[in-house]
This record gives sequence, structure tokens and C-alpha cells, in this order.
Amino acid sequence: MSDNTEIKVEGLTHRYDAREGPLLALKDIAFSVPRGRFVGLVGPSGCGKSSLLMMLAGLVVPSEGRITVAGQPVTAPAPDRIGVVFQESSLLPWRTALENVVFPLKLRGLPKAEREGRAAALLDLVGLRGFESRYPHELSGGMKQRVAIARGFCQDPPVLLMDEPFAALDEQTRMTLGDELLRIWDAHRKTVVFVTHGLTEAVYLCDEVIVLSGRPGQILERIEIDLPRPRTWEVMASEAFGQLRERIWSLIRVQQ
Ligand code: ADP
Ligand code: MG
Repeated sequence: MSDNTEIKVEGLTHRYDAREGPLLALKDIAFSVPRGRFVGLVGPSGCGKSSLLMMLAGLVVPSEGRITVAGQPVTAPAPDRIGVVFQESSLLPWRTALENVVFPLKLRGLPKAEREGRAAALLDLVGLRGFESRYPHELSGGMKQRVAIARGFCQDPPVLLMDEPFAALDEQTRMTLGDELLRIWDAHRKTVVFVTHGLTEAVYLCDEVIVLSGRPGQILERIEIDLPRPRTWEVMASEAFGQLRERIWSLIRVQQ
């Protein structure tokens, strides 16, 4: 294992105790992600993508196997090491945008001025300058998701896990936020694991896409997205882009 490994998953298998009995959700998952890599996770609905992400976040303990982040076992949530942004961003409704972003920093005991400065800078980064004192109900879906992304970044975790963070958004917002995410990723060199069912999104954003089979989720293939960055319109319109997208789709299609 090289020193550059940020995430390492070994022999991971997971069973849920479902009402009908044990349900095998993930089987023999093993992969590692070097520091700074942007990895996509795709696969048919119900194949265990969210489960795997929750395990990487320390929110669910796998039945078997081992996960380490930066060489340390993941056994419980560690928001300063591993940030998470989920599809349905759960902002605290009684707190403003700024307070929602600040909140995790408060838990960490950072001084008020420092945490508010950091939160405001992040809101600015996701295009929400001027909206700091708005409450979630005063924000559009896209804006709330931006707040959740700012919150995910605010502790500056080296690893960021995102579970279909843009899925509920319209296409324009999705593309804008995707570009913002890439800008932040590029500036701060996070290691990102990004679950999506958008194949264009996966090819557009990622360095590599891990394709999972239908349940129980197993790794079918890891596809290197060796396209130049930035992924301009020319890159997106290229034959190589289309072929990568096709390759992923051909793997998933037969799994549905
Ligand atoms: P995905 O995110 O790929 O759609 P999930 O990880 O949400 O898949 O779910 C994988 C499988 O595990 C599904 O069949 C789902 O119904 C099941 N599952 C998820 N969470 C639980 C749970 N807490 N208890 C029982 N079964 C679960
Ligand atoms: Mg899911």
C-alpha cells in the first residue's frame, strides 16, 4: 500500500436484518482510493451505494471487512476527517444558512469569529453571499443543497463523501454546482467519493468510476476517466467521452 492511499476498503460484506430475514446488500467489496482522487460510485438502484457510503462515513458498521481512512480504521463518524453531503440535505430549519454551516465548527469548539469567518467564506464560495441570514424555508432547493455542500466542506475534511447530492435539483443547478464542486476540489484537493446515477455527471466529474452490480453489490469494473480537465464542451462532445459513458451504461443496463 502506498503512502498516498486515503481510503482503503478490504473484504467488505454487509447483511441487513430485514423483516423477511437477512438481506445481503454488499459482497466482497475491496478498493482503495489515492489521496486527492475524485471517484464516482454508480450502480443500479438498491445495489448498496448509500450503504457503502454510510460505512465509509462510519455511520454503519459493515458485517465483515475493514475500512481505513488515512491509515486509521473507521469505526464512528469523524466529521473533521470525513465530511458527508447526502441527497436530502437535512439543514436545521430553525437556524440560518450561516448557522447551519457554523454548527459543526461550534461542536468542535472553534472561536466564534473564526468559525463565522470560515462559514461565510464557504457560503461565498458556493455562490450564497448575501443569503447568510436566510432560514432554510426562505431558500430554494438548490440553495439549500449549496448550504449543505458548504457545511460538508466547512470543517475542511480531507475526505468528502457525497450521496447523490444534486439528484433533487434541476439540470442547470446540477451543472453549476458540479462546476463549483470541481473548483473547490481543485483548490483544496479533497478525496471525493461521489454516488450518482447520472452517467454524464459521473464522466464529467470523476477521475475514476466504480461500477457496482445489482444486489448484492459487487464491483463489476473500475473505469478510468482519462479525459483532460477542465472538461470543456469540446471534451464533453468528444468521442472518448461518449464511449466512457456507453461503457458504464452497458455494464449497468444488464444489471437492472
Ligand atoms: P442504493 O443506495 O444503491 O440504492 P442502498 O444502500 O440504499 O442502495 O440499499 C441496498 C439494499 O439494502 C436495498 O435492498 C435496501 O432495501 C437495503 N437496505 C438499506 N438499508 C437498510 C436497512 N436499514 N435495513 C434493511 N435493509 C436495508
Ligand atoms: Mg442510495
